[in-house]
Amino acid sequence: MSSDPTLAADLTRTILTVSDFPRPGVSFKDITPVLHDPALFLRTTTALAAPWQSAGITHVLAIESRGFLFGAPVAQHLGAALVPVRKPGKLPRARLTESYALEYGTDTLECHVDALGAGDRALAIDDVLATGGTAAAVVRLVARTGATLAGIAAVIDLSFLPWRTALMGVRTETLVRY
Ligand code: AMP
Repeated sequence: MSSDPTLAADLTRTILTVSDFPRPGVSFKDITPVLHDPALFLRTTTALAAPWQSAGITHVLAIESRGFLFGAPVAQHLGAALVPVRKPGKLPRARLTESYALEYGTDTLECHVDALGAGDRALAIDDVLATGGTAAAVVRLVARTGATLAGIAAVIDLSFLPWRTALMGVRTETLVRY
């Protein structure tokens, strides 16, 4: 049982759905109103961190770009290192790179090779789990570092999209389901 039983309802009331953005047919979940409400934003990042408090998390991987907004406070709640997982061309030093398929084309995520390694326990954070392609790329990235992935946490579960299949066998925790 969540220690914040009204959080899901408050998030549902606050997150806005924007039809046909960024392209026709997409119902975009706009989390910026959550950021505009300091108390709700704090409750959100507290609840994202809560299931992992005893999971021995040493590193929080924040996925560019909205994952940065939630990942940084979660790292602080957990007393863990913060690792930005970035789009190509942003990280200045030696990197690990993982590409993944989009509906049209591919996308790529990177982390610094020295960001984490064997013996570390990682938690990855994003705002939305949709197809799961982004998070699955992070699963592969963490595997290549030699670290253990404890799981993935996100604010929003788009349950009508196939992220559960893409992340089979990975512990996932989300706060609100559509
Ligand atoms: P996916 O790789 O399909 O699971 O998509 C996850 C990424 O795309 C996340 O980083 C989200 O920020 C973004 N995303 C996918 N679908 C939506 C949506 N309906 N509303 C807002 N963001 C989305």
